[in-house]
Amino acid sequence: EEARDSREPVIRRVGADPGALDRVSLARDLRSAIGNGELFLHYQPKAHVRRQEITSVEALVRWQHPTRGLVLPGDFIQLAEESRDIVDLTIWTIQQAIRDQRILATRGHDVTMFVNVSGLLLSDARFVRRACALVENSGAKIGFEITETAVIRDPESAIGHLHTFAAIGIVIAIDDYGAGLSSLAYLKQLPARELKIDKLFVTQLTSSNRDPLIVRSTIDLAHALEMEVVAEGVETASALALLSVMGCDVVQGYFISRPIALSALIEFMDQYRVK
Ligand code: C2E
Ligand code: CA
Ligand code: CA
Ligand code: CA
Repeated sequence: EEARDSREPVIRRVGADPGALDRVSLARDLRSAIGNGELFLHYQPKAHVRRQEITSVEALVRWQHPTRGLVLPGDFIQLAEESRDIVDLTIWTIQQAIRDQRILATRGHDVTMFVNVSGLLLSDARFVRRACALVENSGAKIGFEITETAVIRDPESAIGHLHTFAAIGIVIAIDDYGAGLSSLAYLKQLPARELKIDKLFVTQLTSSNRDPLIVRSTIDLAHALEMEVVAEGVETASALALLSVMGCDVVQGYFISRPIALSALIEFMDQYRVK
């Protein structure tokens, strides 16, 4: 076992197959990370364009690794899906999100709290039952952003489970619009209230010729299906202005706020209300 520098913040790639060994050790560490209290959530507000208020918040998981430092979800969510640790990770996230939604509500900010739920989990009936039990008994306003990271093997059952969530009041958003589950064939059948346009199309909005066309047609499509459109990755005032003209309903991104801790979010929301 190689000695590690406890301060090294980045993931080190080891050996002839860069990343492979590292992935193994990271996957092993993840198993105990939840129990050891190494995971925490940051929250990023979603702002309603016309109403000029924060109507919801997205929970994003972070991992304070004892030796690697801060590890972002891009480096471990896929590993968690492969090892099935994504089930416990997501249950844990839902529990935290419920608790913090109740805290926000007592501070006068009773906004919907969105949790990212991997599309993979839509084929897990036991996960669906556990998630529903948590949300149903909580009184918290909860939404699920369905992220697509794997092929959904049984779309019929996945869609059925989305209806189960929607029936108990969980708001469904389709994340990363542009990938498989959000294909036109399925979109009509989904009980989704929000369509989230991937930041891929938003960050270059004002400098590309093609992206404004994609964004505009996505907004029109979503509205035709009676869904609200959320644009993520809004980094500039000019992107916000263009999205507003295009009729985008909700915006999220560094221009409004980065993902932040709960205490900072409460401060941000107190001030946003005063403005
Ligand atoms: P996502 O759900 O599409 O989240 C958006 C990502 O873009 C987040 O990265 C966020 O911090 C980042 N972002 C927000 N605003 C901006 C901006 O204005 N510009 C740019 N360039 N980026 C922005 P993050 O937190 O690293 O999360 C990455 C992905 O990991 C998420 O993508 C989501 O798919 C996944 N993820 C995060 N938390 C969870 C979780 O609890 N469960 C699951 N299954 N996946 C999660
Ligand atoms: Ca998301
Ligand atoms: Ca995205
Ligand atoms: Ca994503």
